[in-house]
Amino acid sequence: MNLQDTFLHKEFDINSKIWQSPEGNLLDIHFLAQFPIDFIRSRNYNLWRYREAIPIQSDKHIVSFNEGFTPLLSIDFNGKKIGIKQEQLFSTGSYKDRGATVLMSKVKELGIGKVVQDSSGNAGCAIAAYAAAANIDCSIYLQQDTSPAKIAQMKAYGAAIHFVNGSREDVADVTLNAAQDAYYASHSWNPFFFQGTKTFAYEVCEQLGWRAPDSVVLPAGNGTLIIGCYIGFMDLLHAGVIDKMPKLIAVQSENCAPLAEAFFKNKTAYSNINSQPTLAEGIAIAKPVRGNQMLQYVKESKGTFVIVSEIEIKNAWKVCALKGFYIEPTSAATIAGLLKYMDGYPHEEIISLFSGHGLKSTDKILTLV
Ligand SMILES: *Cc1c(COP(=O)(O)O)cnc(C)c1O
Repeated sequence: MNLQDTFLHKEFDINSKIWQSPEGNLLDIHFLAQFPIDFIRSRNYNLWRYREAIPIQSDKHIVSFNEGFTPLLSIDFNGKKIGIKQEQLFSTGSYKDRGATVLMSKVKELGIGKVVQDSSGNAGCAIAAYAAAANIDCSIYLQQDTSPAKIAQMKAYGAAIHFVNGSREDVADVTLNAAQDAYYASHSWNPFFFQGTKTFAYEVCEQLGWRAPDSVVLPAGNGTLIIGCYIGFMDLLHAGVIDKMPKLIAVQSENCAPLAEAFFKNKTAYSNINSQPTLAEGIAIAKPVRGNQMLQYVKESKGTFVIVSEIEIKNAWKVCALKGFYIEPTSAATIAGLLKYMDGYPHEEIISLFSGHGLKSTDKILTLV
């Protein structure tokens, strides 16, 4: 079990208190996940049932709300049944709890007393909740226009909130600076976060009877689920639990689609773009830290990108609401991508998700109803 700088092929002890390499590169975790299926079946229905696949050393450090194993509902879209994971049902209202439970357990294991984080909202809410549960100090850096419900939620958990004037990237710069003397509990940099989001893939396979679907339609902002799913399905493939890698279908908003643009030009690195505001605030990431890794994984899985317009996001949100599902507009972007993708692949078994709860975005939703 190691931290790895895959760019320079260097390895670091898993208990080093670092979240990037000394050269400033991304770190990934090298770890052989195991799936003792009889044990797993006998355990409680939460993501820690995959205990041998999660790189936390001691059970006593686990910070958990018994999260995970969200329902996989079969929902009819245009006459076709699609499996939709109910990821809006986590205790903080988005699937970011998957990453937060593993990352904050590691923070506790490392004996760290203070974390910093930056977020467009939901990752901040999740880190703040688990920091509260673990009694760890938490500072969150935000843009001024962060959704009021998310600000209220982070404050409620006792996090110190700092507003930064400027773009999402300016916020990241200020946070990087603050991370000089605190541990950066980042959902884009910190590799432990992805060791939590990968459990989405495990649950999908178990809920299908220990097999892989043909494709999975996912949001593409910072890529916590795209990278998580890649790691998770790879773990299952290497362990011989499944026999194929599902196609990863990555959805971006037309107003902020740096990766889709690079993908369709067959590039391995994305370029700067001019982004516009979008209803899908949660995936409006113009410079995703792991963007090139996302491009590589989508391509390797034989998946693709789908770009959705503001009108398509609005329509998808309405379709879901009128079926009784109250989701964030950001989550509707993924469903808009699903509706677009599924037409071209009528025979595929497709899985997708509702990523966040509607109660997070009352202000935006009031403009839609
Ligand atoms: C974080 C988030 C996303 C997008 O995830 P990325 O990790 O940025 O790709 C989508 N929907 C909701 C509700 C989120 O909180």
